[in-house]
Amino acid sequence: MTATKIHAAVCRKFGAPLTVEQLSLAAPGDGELQVRVAFCAICHSDIHYAAGAWGGRLPAVYGHEAAGVVEAVGAGVDGATVGDQVVVTLLRACGRCHHCARGESQVCGVKLALDRNSPLSDSDGNPVAQGLRTAAFAERTVVHHSQVVVIDKEMPLAAASLLACGVITGHGAVTNTAGVRPGSSTVTIGAGGVGLNCIQGAKACGAHANIAVDVSDAKLKAATAFGATHVVNPGMCDAKSEVRAITKGGADYVFVAVGITEAVEQGLTLLRRGGALVLVGMPAAGATARLEVLGIADKAQRILGSKMGAARIHVDIPQLIHSYRAGRLKLDELISARYPLAQINEAIAEVKRGAALRNLIAFE
Ligand SMILES: [Zn+2]
Ligand SMILES: [Zn+2]
Repeated sequence: MTATKIHAAVCRKFGAPLTVEQLSLAAPGDGELQVRVAFCAICHSDIHYAAGAWGGRLPAVYGHEAAGVVEAVGAGVDGATVGDQVVVTLLRACGRCHHCARGESQVCGVKLALDRNSPLSDSDGNPVAQGLRTAAFAERTVVHHSQVVVIDKEMPLAAASLLACGVITGHGAVTNTAGVRPGSSTVTIGAGGVGLNCIQGAKACGAHANIAVDVSDAKLKAATAFGATHVVNPGMCDAKSEVRAITKGGADYVFVAVGITEAVEQGLTLLRRGGALVLVGMPAAGATARLEVLGIADKAQRILGSKMGAARIHVDIPQLIHSYRAGRLKLDELISARYPLAQINEAIAEVKRGAALRNLIAFE
């Protein structure tokens, strides 16, 4: 197989607008497959990377919340064939290391061939990095087979794309990382694309008090539609006393679904003795929070980091599709607008303004 020409949104300088360019995409190697991207949602992680908050190589193509159709399959791939509909995630895993063996493949650190050599190159033949291991702000992508989940042909690809990151990150933080038990009280700080999925995850787990905290009344309204039983706007009231009144002393679980360190500090004040603070949002590299250590030990509180909702994508994504079909999981309601690739900078600007839950780049 030879290389394919594709259009992709390239970041050449942190903080500058992305440029849509024609790139060359190498054919899939062993264990890899090529996917024609149908939809790729814009996640805050793409925006953080493009702004330079987390470093990384340039030039790069971001976009990691995608769904599409398998176009070509390399040697040694089973479980996916040409024509299959797939969700494409950034979770690339070796399947053999200590973490993978323990069911923690989301933190697999083994470098695979695609980590060493990007399949993308520009018109001068210079390599272009696969940002977030996916590079799906592009017509096509080549990824490792561990990153894709085959879904049935009736599942709409626009809704399916959201399952690649935002939904599993929020929902999984509640169901996998925290393991919220029925009758619990939960607080979610930040009712955006990820926070709303914490809220619908908490509803699915049977949380009796499911509290959304956000400074935007529009997002709090969405939170109610996604299952929040109470909403708190810290711009209008004292969030701590409000949450303590609702939960009679503090929540069993607090999910911080924004990448703001002050929200981590605030989150701890909303927690009951013995409760768990779950860190879901990711701030800039090097950002630190101030926490009173004695209080955490004395109150037997737990702080849990949740990467990608601790998702086992081949188990969780089919389950979430089942819930969507049964009307228990909202996906279509998360989609704010669809943009062609040429308008990706406008789509990103909308997300930055806080006006959108999820904007999709649509290739079909
Ligand atoms: Zn993401
Ligand atoms: Zn591994």
